[in-house]
Amino acid sequence: MDIMTTITDKDPEQREFHQAVSEVVETVKPVLERNPEFRQHAVLERITEPERVIMFRVPWMDDQEQVHVNRGFRVEMNSAIGPYKGGLRFHPSVNLGIIKFLAFEQVFKNSLTTLAMGGGKGGSDFDPKGKSDAEVMRFCQSFMAELYRHIGPNTDVPAGDIGVGAREIGYLFGYYKKLKNEFTGVLTGKSINWGGSLIRPEATGYGCVYFAAEMLATRSDSLEGKTCIVSGSGNVAQYTTEKILTLGGKVVTLSDSAGYIYDEEGVTTEKLQWLMRLKNVKRGRISEYADKYPSAVYTPVDPSIDHNPLWAHKADCAFPSATQNEINQQDAENLMAGGIFLVSEGANMPSDNEAISVYLDHKILYGPGKAANAGGVAVSGLEMAQNSMRLNWPAEEVEERLKQIMKSIHKTCLDASTDYGMEGNYVAGANIAGFTKVVNAMLDQGLV
Ligand code: GLU
Repeated sequence: MDIMTTITDKDPEQREFHQAVSEVVETVKPVLERNPEFRQHAVLERITEPERVIMFRVPWMDDQEQVHVNRGFRVEMNSAIGPYKGGLRFHPSVNLGIIKFLAFEQVFKNSLTTLAMGGGKGGSDFDPKGKSDAEVMRFCQSFMAELYRHIGPNTDVPAGDIGVGAREIGYLFGYYKKLKNEFTGVLTGKSINWGGSLIRPEATGYGCVYFAAEMLATRSDSLEGKTCIVSGSGNVAQYTTEKILTLGGKVVTLSDSAGYIYDEEGVTTEKLQWLMRLKNVKRGRISEYADKYPSAVYTPVDPSIDHNPLWAHKADCAFPSATQNEINQQDAENLMAGGIFLVSEGANMPSDNEAISVYLDHKILYGPGKAANAGGVAVSGLEMAQNSMRLNWPAEEVEERLKQIMKSIHKTCLDASTDYGMEGNYVAGANIAGFTKVVNAMLDQGLV
């Protein structure tokens, strides 16, 4: 039976997982044709089935002593090239299908980083929004009370993702250490004075902009003077904006789940610093940016309409940095009509498969998330290396390594696309290169 039919029949409700798998299956067809032994070894069937799925109850008590129950997940997808590695997401939309799609993407992304990391992902449908620090701490402790027995610095190394930042990593790490009586690099994204790496907070955003700069360089172009649309306003969007400004570009939009701001004068360094305080300390909403800066207009976005007006603004480059499927076919057509010729994805799978077809038809520079946003997990890999040596590298050294890794990912994707006669198709290149490396490692290690 066809692999997609098998997968959709097995877990009909896991739509995002089907979407991520179908994108990969489509683009690796020529690899299977070139390597007939891959079919005999059922590599597609094996790579799409998680090595292990852990689902658990997370009970916790709010400040009014009311008890709540959330669901916790860790999907250990593939360990062919290293320990499972990938973030934890705390968001009400989290379910097994979402975590499986993220874990699946992570396998290919981690393989592209050049570092020895397998793929995994976890999280919970817990919503940290509006919760007190004490509530978040109790939730994290309850979550780790189960997760700790499944992870370890040589087994599975979680990190942050949406809803899991420095605060949550701190509470999770503290509880792991208490339960295991071990100070180890079991999580990445730690604070700098207790085992974290410099440049880890910046890494995903910076890496995404470096990837964009590499794509532009193939057309003898740069970010200098380019107008950019950025979505999201969390960690990835913040450092994407910072690096675009450093490289001479202009950022005119930022968003959250309720709406977006359009600042015709552009987000300056000073405005960005204010925004970082708003989001990271006050945990406020993007609408407050427009109250503070009169050059900006706030537009609430109704999630039930079929397109997001954010993507209809005229600009040169787009950096989707919010969440999965934030760009559909209509949005992609609006981007093209608005003059966009580069999309570099800071979020995981922000463009649906119809939107990707629009980019490919228009032959724009399109860096898919699993390549363009790999800088975050790459610096997590560097954090693991520093933890093993019990050393801290200076910021310049980490950033230089990040830059080289992003260059290497770009070249790997471009070379793979050329090798298969699709030069400049980075989606095909990323999938082919990531897939080939992991599959060869799986075959080397026998039927496990
Ligand atoms: N959540 C991030 C990602 O999607 C980072 C994962 C990590 O650092 O392990 O790649």
